[in-house]
Amino acid sequence: MNTSYQLFIDGVWREGSDGKRVPVINPATEEAFAEVSWGTVDDANLAVESSQKALSGQWGTWSPTRRGRFLLSVAAAIRRNTAELSALFSKEHGKPPHQASSEVEDAARYLEYFGGWANKLTGMTIDLGQGQLDYVLREPLGVTVHIAPWNYPLDIFCRSVGPALAAGNTCVVKPSREISVVTLALARLFQEEGIPAGVLNVIPGPGTVLGKVLTEDPRVRGIIFTGSVATGRTVLQSAALNITPVVSMELGGKAPSLVFVKDESELDGPVGGAVGAMAWNAGQSCGQRARWYVRRDLYEPFLERLAPRVRNLKPGPATQPGVDLGPLVSKKHYDNVMNYIRLGIEEGARLIAGGGRPEGVGEKGYFVAPTVFADCHNGMRIVREEIFGPVITVIPVDSIDEAVALANDNSFGLSSEIWTSDLTTAHLVASKLDVGHVTINGSAAFGFEVPFGGVKLSGLGREGGPEAILAYTRLKNVWVKLGHG
Ligand code: NDP
Repeated sequence: MNTSYQLFIDGVWREGSDGKRVPVINPATEEAFAEVSWGTVDDANLAVESSQKALSGQWGTWSPTRRGRFLLSVAAAIRRNTAELSALFSKEHGKPPHQASSEVEDAARYLEYFGGWANKLTGMTIDLGQGQLDYVLREPLGVTVHIAPWNYPLDIFCRSVGPALAAGNTCVVKPSREISVVTLALARLFQEEGIPAGVLNVIPGPGTVLGKVLTEDPRVRGIIFTGSVATGRTVLQSAALNITPVVSMELGGKAPSLVFVKDESELDGPVGGAVGAMAWNAGQSCGQRARWYVRRDLYEPFLERLAPRVRNLKPGPATQPGVDLGPLVSKKHYDNVMNYIRLGIEEGARLIAGGGRPEGVGEKGYFVAPTVFADCHNGMRIVREEIFGPVITVIPVDSIDEAVALANDNSFGLSSEIWTSDLTTAHLVASKLDVGHVTINGSAAFGFEVPFGGVKLSGLGREGGPEAILAYTRLKNVWVKLGHG
């Protein structure tokens, strides 16, 4: 396997301008398994310059159909390379193989979905009366900058680079400092499939430096950001300098799940959902169902069923068979999540499962036991703040109105979920939840064909679905006086 990764700028693999390289750590072993070149301000400038040049080069001559076919060919290449990409991904991120390969598949699906859109974008004509022709052109934005997080790096890369390229833009991608080499491996597939130089640049490096210079560059005409609220605010301030359009900003969540099934016989679904909220990506998901509001008569039965299933989850390295969840992505994040677990105990929540480092994983690796806190209330920080780990909170409620009020009582508004077999309750609650995304009796449909994004501190814009690709275009109105009168 390759153990040395470089920046991808202007169609060329190269070292950073100051030659700096940093180790890439496997979070399951805490050992370095590769090194990656670290970009500088000069590299960021070169990437933007090459992206701007590429707009009027060969890329500008590609028809929308050709761009679409290209994205489909990269999707096929991703599928052909699933095993290699997933293995690298597991090593860099810690995800168990089934979760790593599922995200590789998601990456391919985003490119297929947006590849299909490339030749379906249209402008329009507007009737202003006799002697006049008015038409509206739909054009690409130009150079777009994509600042990506570490939790779903392949998925998030393709959900923004896919529509950007489909619409004819060029891209500069700044991956997270925690996860960059799997992104570079993905970029290599774009290169092998024949992307013209400069259309896609990927530069790992320090976010505070590269992120700032990229988002403040007046040549950049679109910013796509996923990450924390604090950095999101900084990015918005940078964008304000040149009034750069922010295509989308996805800033996380603290999703509520409302359990209002008929009786105990229907608890399997929600209990399985709660287990999944801790196991999938070790809870490092913006859409994680982190707050569980359970009708009071179902509350203890829910906890009784949940506890043994959570204790049965197997944390461990991706190399071990049968692992349900991997380590957290970094030492910094591990310490952060462990602090929240300590805080939960201090705040007086009842610990139902987990509560620290799991048994049987040894001394190394950023493993956290799936943790359930019961008897919580909305005043607790563990209920209000995004923990972003395998930790959930459970709260009893007396009515659906109370559950909705508590669910909405949070500064985030990304995802939410309701479990009920009563159709009226389901649709009524869906209409009342102050979020961008509701699921009923399960948690699929997070992207591709459907819009995904939040309200309040969860951000702005939508990823996935037709609106997402329109956001990567701008409108130009053209008016013509017909005749010479
Ligand atoms: P950040 O918001 O710090 O990082 C997200 C991206 O922004 C990274 O690529 C980062 O680069 C970059 N960045 C950092 N500073 C700037 C800047 N000044 N201008 C532009 N870009 C910048 O998130 P963290 O990775 O530190 O995670 C912290 C918390 O954020 C998590 O614990 C979680 O709560 C939340 N989060 C939410 C995500 C979501 O899906 N909505 C995803 C990831 C995190 P670099 O990595 O090099 O610093």
